Parts: sequence; structure tokens; C-alpha cells
Amino acid sequence: MTGLRKGLLVVVSGPSGVGKGTLLERLLARREDCVFSISATTRAPRPGEVEGRHYYFLDPETFNDWIERDRFLEWNQVHSAYYGTPREFVESARARGQHVVLDVDVKGGLEVMSAEPDCVSIFLAPPDLEALRWRLRHRGTENAEQIAGRLLVARSELKHMDRYAYTIVNDELERAQTQLEAVLEAEMARTPRVIADGQVHALFGPDLEPVLPNSEGP
Ligand code: ADP
Ligand code: 5GP
Repeated sequence: MTGLRKGLLVVVSGPSGVGKGTLLERLLARREDCVFSISATTRAPRPGEVEGRHYYFLDPETFNDWIERDRFLEWNQVHSAYYGTPREFVESARARGQHVVLDVDVKGGLEVMSAEPDCVSIFLAPPDLEALRWRLRHRGTENAEQIAGRLLVARSELKHMDRYAYTIVNDELERAQTQLEAVLEAEMARTPRVIADGQVHALFGPDLEPVLPNSEGP
């Protein structure tokens, strides 16, 4: 009998303006098996951002209260505001078999990787820094000083790219999306995951277990 498959925990990081939000919105529109983990933040909403859809917009006192009550899987200060991943949603959605997608900065990403080693870590990289600058300007949600700050942070974030299992270059959106979905499909097919999910029982029957990875085989 096939057990309920635990959903993947998908960590996506990359510099501000690279296109994380755009790419993930497209993924979520196409895939019913993926859900976005809505973060909490102390920053003000941008025009068009909706409470409980893009973020939970908290005041600093409430954010601190959530930290003290251990309600975050990870949290960090990014670009002078606080951001955190609510733990409870991630755990319950994965238990329901949904793939939970996080959009977190590099420090948050590294924290999740150490807390949840079986997560799927993906770095979204720009084709070059000029494209990143252009995208930030074009988005028009930060002033020149803020854009300069984000480009500075981008340089240090790019240095940690090698800590991520996958790097997707967001040059052309359609191609990046195809690659992202290919990564998810490949991760679902990893042998330890297929065995842990109990899917092979349907193939072998209850009396004939497959040899587990790393065990002494013939
Ligand atoms: P992030 O969430 O990483 O900060 P956004 O998703 O807000 O980035 O994207 C920043 C800007 O770049 C947006 O105006 C978006 O439309 C644009 N953008 C995203 N992906 C691409 C791409 N592949 N080519 C050109 N522009 C892009
Ligand atoms: P923005 O303000 O542009 O929406 O996000 C700024 C940065 O905060 C991005 O790099 C984004 O990945 C990061 N971020 C968003 N939510 C979280 C979170 O819950 N935790 C951490 N560590 N970073 C986050």
C-alpha cells in the first residue's frame, strides 16, 4: 500500500529583483501540489500587496512575540526589516503531501538547510548584475539609495551560491520555470524518497522489501 507522500520543502533564494516572486507565482499558478509559505515581515506593504497573501505584516512587538514563542522555522533581518517563516504552516502542509515553497534570503536559506537537511535548495541567479539593476529599477518599488543597498547585498549573496544544491539562471522566464519544475520532478524521483514514501511496496509486496540504500547488499 502506498503511504501519503510527505511534501518537499523547497527553499528558493537569490538577490532582490532577480525574479523569485515572479517565477514562484507562475509555478504556483500551474501546480496544485505546491503551496507558498507566506512569511511574516515588519516592513510596510508595497502598493498592491495584500495581508495574508503576500506577507503577514506584523508590528515589531508581535514579530518579537512570535520569535519568543518559537513560531518561526527561521527568521532574519533583511534590508532593515525583519522576515520569518511561520513553522506551523510548513509542517502541516508537508504532512498533507503538499510541496512547500519558501522565498527566503541566503542566511535564512542556510538556516533551513541545517534544520531540515532533506530540503531542496535552489539559488535563483541573474544572468549578470546589470540585468539585476535594470530589473530593480524597472520594478520601481525602491528608491535609488535602496537599489544601491540591494545591489551591494546581492554581491555578498552570490558568494553563497555554492551552498545550494541547484542554481537556476533567470535569463528567460519560461526556460527558468521549465528548469524549476524539472528539479522538483527529479527530487520526487530520488530513490531514498521513493522508498521512504512507501511507494515501492506496491511493486514488491509487503514480504519483499527493497534493499535500503547504504545497507549491506549482495
Ligand atoms: P524578487 O522577488 O526576486 O525580488 P521580482 O519577481 O519582484 O523579484 O522581479 C523583479 C522585476 O524583474 C519585476 O519587474 C519582474 O517583472 C522582472 N523579471 C522577473 N523575471 C524576469 C526575467 N526573466 N526577465 C526580465 N524581467 C524579469
Ligand atoms: P522583499 O521585501 O523584496 O519582499 O524581500 C526582501 C528579501 O527578504 C528577499 O531576499 C526575500 O527572499 C527575503 N525574505 C522574504 N521572506 C523571508 C523569510 O521568511 N525569511 C527570510 N530569512 N527571508 C525572507
